[in-house]
Amino acid sequence: MNLILMGLPGAGKGTQAERITIKYSLPHISTGDMFRQAIKDGTALGKQAKAFMDKGDLVPDEVTIGIVRERLVKEDCKSGFLLDGFPRTVQQAEALDTIMAERGGKIDAVLYIDVDPSKLMKRLTGRRICSKCGATYHLSFNPPKQTGICDKCGGELKQRKDDSEATVHERLQVNTKQQQPLIAFYRDKRVLKTINGDQPIDQVFQNVSEILEAFPGQSVKNDRQA
Ligand code: ADP
Ligand code: AMP
Repeated sequence: MNLILMGLPGAGKGTQAERITIKYSLPHISTGDMFRQAIKDGTALGKQAKAFMDKGDLVPDEVTIGIVRERLVKEDCKSGFLLDGFPRTVQQAEALDTIMAERGGKIDAVLYIDVDPSKLMKRLTGRRICSKCGATYHLSFNPPKQTGICDKCGGELKQRKDDSEATVHERLQVNTKQQQPLIAFYRDKRVLKTINGDQPIDQVFQNVSEILEAFPGQSVKNDRQA
């Protein structure tokens, strides 16, 4: 299955991706994670992306499309993938269609996690990420058993630099503007599946699973959940 997870920042894409990729054995392709890794590694890509990310703006389309194109040709994407945070503009969506046509495949579903925007500031400013394994927590909604420590690997939990209130404000504005035409783009293609993201994490995942299991020939590859 070739899947896209769509939703505003804080909607729960990364949280659901942790579960979906395990249950359905799909590689998780998060453009945000790829940029953060590049910044950590001090690469040219990282230097290019950092200024945009720090302000809460989108990284230019040509840069973002380039990294996704390179990633999707890798062996692990041959029998499917889960894109998280890409595409974020119609231009990126059109480029993805071209990439898919070159591969001789198509996007099977766009899982759009819909959350009341007024809830997203609290979700993002309370988000904490494991610095070792990348697992996502929330101070109130999904707290770790031990403060500041990842349940899964014992790593230290950190706040993302762009989860400060000022940057979140900008990110929500930028992404809201870009998301509207993107929803219309995928609705027209009849692949958009809207999921109510204003529910507990496990219930959202239950809804996602119901959608994915309705796909012909789709069987659960791995029953262990994240
Ligand atoms: P995204 O990847 O879409 O930006 P995340 O998955 O990182 O969003 O989630 C943002 C924050 O909200 C995290 O702290 C996460 O633990 C929390 N969260 C995710 N899904 C839910 C949910 N259904 N209800 C409450 N909090 C959630
Ligand atoms: P995320 O981890 O998805 O919240 O993304 C963090 C930041 O990375 C965004 O605020 C953007 O600056 C950048 N980014 C991630 N994905 C994209 C994309 N598809 N297009 C442009 N910028 C992106």
